[in-house]
Amino acid sequence: MPVNLPIVEKTLEQLGADTPERVAALFVKVRAEFDREIAAVADDAARKQFRDAWLGRKAGVLTLVTDNWLKPASPALKPVVGQGLNELRSHVESSIKRRRAEIERQSAERAAAAERLDLSLPGIARAVGTRHLVRQTLDEIEAIFLRLGFAVVEGPEIETTYYNFEALNMPELHPARDMWDTFYVDTPTGGPGQLVLRTHTSPVQIRTMERQPPPVRVIVPGKVYRRDNPDASHLFMFHQIEGLAVDQDLTFADFKGTIEFFVHEFLGKNARTRLRPSYFPFTEPSAEVDATCIVCSGRGCRVCKQTGWMEIMGAGMVDPAVYGFVGYDPKQLSGFAFGMGVDRLALLKQGIGDIQVLQQNDVRFLRQYP
Ligand SMILES: [Zn+2]
Repeated sequence: MPVNLPIVEKTLEQLGADTPERVAALFVKVRAEFDREIAAVADDAARKQFRDAWLGRKAGVLTLVTDNWLKPASPALKPVVGQGLNELRSHVESSIKRRRAEIERQSAERAAAAERLDLSLPGIARAVGTRHLVRQTLDEIEAIFLRLGFAVVEGPEIETTYYNFEALNMPELHPARDMWDTFYVDTPTGGPGQLVLRTHTSPVQIRTMERQPPPVRVIVPGKVYRRDNPDASHLFMFHQIEGLAVDQDLTFADFKGTIEFFVHEFLGKNARTRLRPSYFPFTEPSAEVDATCIVCSGRGCRVCKQTGWMEIMGAGMVDPAVYGFVGYDPKQLSGFAFGMGVDRLALLKQGIGDIQVLQQNDVRFLRQYP
């Protein structure tokens, strides 16, 4: 910043300032020039340059005033010049300090203004996920059985043929193995250690009975796999909930009561239950459990093929042969087991016609079940 003050280059004598009043007038001029210039200092770089111009030791204005006015001044004027110089220095230093604080405040304000949030702008909406309809159905079924004192247990989805078939009373080459179209898993050795993707959650029944002495009261939710071509009523991966109760003196009546309680809780108080004889290798006797069609309340409709009933699970009394595989005494114990397809129950309850929508991850479908 150029300092437009030729008078500080000259001595008082050259300037003709020979009285205190004239000296004071000179200081007024210098101060006025200072005040004019400092008002134009707008940023930190300009402030540093300005400070050097006024306070610089070699050629600053105050140094020039000291060298040109104070030092050669006559003894009579020296005190006056000295006082003027002191006042000027004090004014210059405090003004520059104040200006510096102002510049800092202004720059902080500018930065804050640049960062300021506009609270009136709409927010960025984040998609909130929901529990899948199948998960909701699993939770609902689990909660019903937890109230009856059942515990939830889980097991591996890749199983040995021993747990998936043999220990469930289906030895190798048993024709009942054909009831399930099974995914076999390639293993380096092959042979008797063959692995499968479990075709049902029943292997976990065996694992549970191996692990703990009776009584047993568990439900087993989980994914199961069948080599089916997907269509409106088939998926190659779906969900089951299996139940197992083993104790002394458990009867078919206990089994029926448990199932009826479940149906009432899950489908409503008006839902009725009926059992039809069936066959499973690991239960004897075995039954298919039907419940009143919830679409037509039993009057008959397209969903229930006009029967008024819909099949909801397979079940039965545990075949005594199964106890032999886990070291339980079939003479002392009895029990019942049941298994249901969770995906299908979700469809029936919601009146959905195509099971494949459960795995297509179409948000338009998923959003209907928050
Ligand atoms: Zn119906």
